[in-house]
Amino acid sequence: MSIVADPAARAARVGRHVAAPPAAASPHDPAADARWLARAVELATANVHDGGGPFGAVVVADGVEVAVGQNRVTRDLDPTAHAEVQAIRAACRAADTFALDGMTLYTSCEPCPLCLAACLWARLDRVVFSADRHDASRGGFDDTAFYELFARDRATWDRTRVHELRLPQSTDPFDAWLRHTSRTAY
Ligand SMILES: [Zn+2]
Repeated sequence: MSIVADPAARAARVGRHVAAPPAAASPHDPAADARWLARAVELATANVHDGGGPFGAVVVADGVEVAVGQNRVTRDLDPTAHAEVQAIRAACRAADTFALDGMTLYTSCEPCPLCLAACLWARLDRVVFSADRHDASRGGFDDTAFYELFARDRATWDRTRVHELRLPQSTDPFDAWLRHTSRTAY
């Protein structure tokens, strides 16, 4: 997976329906990236006008839109309902899979640690974002603070505290998983 910032998308202005790039286009075609990214930005701005958070995302495969996502934290009372997570969930439902190999996620803003991990778990090929964590911070969102927190020893965290407590049965679930010969690996 690669993470690509495309500042050109900041100036991109497109209509609601984005034309798919030509079939012969490179999957890394900057013009196609800018068009999909503009779609994500458009979804983010529209979501603000609908009462939601300023984040939007699109999952694309082979130049075709698979799914979109908009921030639904306040509407759904779900702090994990970030645009990228919403788009990944919708794309997995649309493609009937739990792995989005070969697909690209375009997001209006640099993924927060939650969404970045979700992108990794989803096995996306690429993530392309427009605004960055500092833009998000200016908007009042914790992206930068969370990245800085992850870089520090957990013992120094002054917000949610994380503790390890080993139990005799701590590894039982993994032992059960490894013994389960018909498990669905992911
Ligand atoms: Zn996020």
